[in-house]
Amino acid sequence: MFAHRLPLFQLLGLQIRLHPSWFLLAALVLWSLGAGYFPYVAPGRAPFVYWIMAAAGVLGLAVSVVAHEMAHALVGRRFGMSIAGITLFVFGGVAELDSEPTAPQGEALMALAGPLFSVAASGLFYGLEDMSGGVTGVVLDYLGFLNLLLAGFNMLPAFPMDGGRVLRAALWAWRGDVVWATRWATAGAAVLGLGMMAVGVWQIVEGALAAGVWWLVVGFFVRAAAAQAFHRVVQTNSPVSAIGE
Ligand SMILES: [Zn+2]
Repeated sequence: MFAHRLPLFQLLGLQIRLHPSWFLLAALVLWSLGAGYFPYVAPGRAPFVYWIMAAAGVLGLAVSVVAHEMAHALVGRRFGMSIAGITLFVFGGVAELDSEPTAPQGEALMALAGPLFSVAASGLFYGLEDMSGGVTGVVLDYLGFLNLLLAGFNMLPAFPMDGGRVLRAALWAWRGDVVWATRWATAGAAVLGLGMMAVGVWQIVEGALAAGVWWLVVGFFVRAAAAQAFHRVVQTNSPVSAIGE
């Protein structure tokens, strides 16, 4: 799926890689935290404090995304799927499957593992926030919210995102036909992607240009990923390499 990835490190037999587009996400998050969010919620500090907090936030984002994908990969491996590694990129991360699930139960549990882990991580960050104060507490609060957001966004029923995988597994279990289930799960994703693009257009009309462009790009990506997944499963019977952000 990605050319030009930088290998970072190995973890539990999985190669963690970085696609250069990750730096765009990191820069956007660094800027919006250091220049916007942290000065707003914790006013009165020196600017360099906000940039240190923002750097900690970006690091926390990377760790949270890798942990989410690790949860997918380890549960997937438990159900006999072969996982090549994990790549961080502009929309978060993907765990790369070398083989598709062979049964709906395995697919559902693999797909649920990531969001469930993110919810648990969110609880951990909020718990740590209660034990600390000051700027550390503000960063922990952000990471608690970020992990909830990761879980929620990924549970959107847009195959091959996590929620879409759960939907496909349910359809697959119901009719016993993975191709039919994929057809409906990817059709749902195409509609949802179109809805996201409509939100983007609406936001641009309302004057929120950056947010609007972001929704347009994400909607386009959701549709492209669904079309590619449909092509792979229905027409060429090859694995879908990405399991969501
Ligand atoms: Zn996921």
